[in-house]
Amino acid sequence: MKNKPALAGLTLGELREILQAYPPFRAVQIYEWICSGAGTFDEMSNLPVVLRRELAENYRLFSGGICSELEDPDGTVKMGINLEDGAVIEAVILRDGEGRKTACVSTQAGCPAGCVFCKTGMLGFKRNLSAVEIAGQFLRLKGRDPGISHIVIMGMGEPLLNLDELRKALVFIMDSNGLNISKRRITLSTSGIASGILDLAERGPDIRLALSLVTAREELRERLMPIGRANPLARLREALLQYQEKRQQRITLEMVLLGGINMESADAEAAADFVRSGSRTGLDAVVNLIPWNPVEGQKFEGHPLRPPTNKETADFTAALESRGLKVTRRIGKGRGICGACGQLGVVPKE
Ligand code: SAH
Ligand code: SF4
Repeated sequence: MKNKPALAGLTLGELREILQAYPPFRAVQIYEWICSGAGTFDEMSNLPVVLRRELAENYRLFSGGICSELEDPDGTVKMGINLEDGAVIEAVILRDGEGRKTACVSTQAGCPAGCVFCKTGMLGFKRNLSAVEIAGQFLRLKGRDPGISHIVIMGMGEPLLNLDELRKALVFIMDSNGLNISKRRITLSTSGIASGILDLAERGPDIRLALSLVTAREELRERLMPIGRANPLARLREALLQYQEKRQQRITLEMVLLGGINMESADAEAAADFVRSGSRTGLDAVVNLIPWNPVEGQKFEGHPLRPPTNKETADFTAALESRGLKVTRRIGKGRGICGACGQLGVVPKE
């Protein structure tokens, strides 16, 4: 039997089309319910009971079911969602010091990029998620915590390898008559797909952009991030400059800190060159340091990875700052439930 179409995550236009048999105002009512966090058709109390029943017979609200939910004492929530083909993806709610709540969503089941420090990369690639599957995660998280105000596209997968579906999901998420999440509250993180950055610069949407630089030593970067071979740093830099020219946004350069590997003064020097060189103005960028979140069994060329010591982190921060770079540091929230960066796809041990 073919699966029933899912409605949560469709734009109002798409919903109108699919519900053509009904008067147009019904689509508006259903859209409003979806945006306000309805979890079932039965909750849509201004729809006639017969209609609710009919909807439930012919459609599903969500394209996947929640199969797990874990909460860390630090407030992070990790939700597992099983999709109809058996793929399981994860979405996370993060809380920061100011009480701000951010949804972290996935764009692919697994990831083809193969970064050696990332659990999702170890899983390999299964498939791209559809727009409804991407937007649906946000709705599920918002249903769990209506206070979510921001979104980061930093879950499983490489978003710029699934840009068409992501764009559609963002139309839904940014709709001023619906969820109305503003572009300033949305950040996309990419491992560095030059063509995708250019596409985003050209066609939008106008969201914040982060590049997982990790290191600007090209040869080391290619060993840590195999996708870097097809996307050399000079091309990435050029693409970022174009993005900046079109979108006028400060860019974040994320550096996962791998103890003893990418924290030499040569890495600080190369990062400074990456930001400064090649143009009159340089990149308007801030470096975000992310101490590596442990994933068991992860190795780099035969050696186990380890998080940086506090001293290594402090020294590397100073090395970057002394070269004129602005530096921030991300706290490893959600580690207790393997819901931190790079840990998605891991089931924590009891
Ligand atoms: N695929 C995209 C977005 C998802 S990864 C990307 O790579 O940018 C989100 C962030 O987590 C990236 O900055 C990535 O470098 C970082 N990351 C991956 N594995 C990590 C780990 N084990 N510890 C800390 N950060 C990690
Ligand atoms: Fe994919 Fe990002 Fe993980 Fe690299 S860090 S494997 S691009 S999810």
